Amino acid sequence: MKRIGVLTSGGDAPGMNAAIRAVVRKAIFHDIEVVGIKYGYEGLMEGNMELLTIGSVGDIIHRGGTMLFSARSEEFKTDEGQQKAIEQMKKHQIEGLVVIGGDGSFRGAQKLTEKGFPCIGVPGTIDNDIAGTDFTIGFDTALNTVIEAIDRVRDTATSHERTYILEVMGRDAGDLALWAGLAGGAETIIIPEKEEDFDDIIERLKRGRDRGKKHSIIVLAEGVGSGFDFAERITETSGLETRVTVLGYIQRGGSPTAQDRVLASRLGARAVELLIEGHGGRMVGIENNQLVDYDIHEVLEKQHEIDLGMYDLSKELSI
Ligand code: ADP
Repeated sequence: MKRIGVLTSGGDAPGMNAAIRAVVRKAIFHDIEVVGIKYGYEGLMEGNMELLTIGSVGDIIHRGGTMLFSARSEEFKTDEGQQKAIEQMKKHQIEGLVVIGGDGSFRGAQKLTEKGFPCIGVPGTIDNDIAGTDFTIGFDTALNTVIEAIDRVRDTATSHERTYILEVMGRDAGDLALWAGLAGGAETIIIPEKEEDFDDIIERLKRGRDRGKKHSIIVLAEGVGSGFDFAERITETSGLETRVTVLGYIQRGGSPTAQDRVLASRLGARAVELLIEGHGGRMVGIENNQLVDYDIHEVLEKQHEIDLGMYDLSKELSI
């Protein structure tokens, strides 16, 4: 193998740059050239790419976002689009591709592999919603951003007797809300994986108020619904004054944490090893702090499992 490509696709996540850096430097270490493809599959179909050197990825390990930019492409979902991408890679003598992204991006990687072009997926998303890995790149950074927000809301909350709802990202997954809620000491965590008991939530809020609690923090995963709708329900039912903070895109930015940089470095380098070993259609991940890899097909079939033991614990600790 003489030359490989790397791209970032779908939603960006902090640590993607550290993963790109690892792919480039690991490949060059093994005398393999790396072409950086810009704007994901869109750029791949257009041939928007350039050769990356050791220096091209200098000074990016600590930066959020992705130096290769990201995009979503409808055209790439078609056979013609995928064929166009393969033609470009042939033209540029690329023999394997590392795709850093989420499940949508992996579907694309699988399609290319099925068409005879080997791709390896590296899980990069703040949502932590991918099966076959305990953590995705970007999750830890987003988690720390959410915790900082909870701490700030808590500071101001002590001055007012109110219920605060923080709506956090995660698409259909509740990991970010669950981890942030536990780490931030939230009274209530609402996630898609666990049906909420609304009466119990109101009961807990009232109990807290009656025993002199000044405020209550609820962390709500976006997959459950809107924080504003939930606030309205609470106020209508209990009369409690409620404030909502939707954290939004600030959760996707920022300098990656040490955890994310290390994870990205390990996963990016492992992806290159797999290509060198002649594999394609696999995703690298981490389980029990060990590097693993699975068939992408298998990863996409399975549901990422949330740790509901942590959910029960959060309830026990927030009475
Ligand atoms: P993420 O990778 O973060 O889940 P998306 O779901 O938007 O983000 O996917 C990113 C891109 O991957 C899409 O814009 C599309 O080009 C490609 N993709 C998604 N689903 C498929 C599919 N079924 N077949 C081929 N390519 C796909």
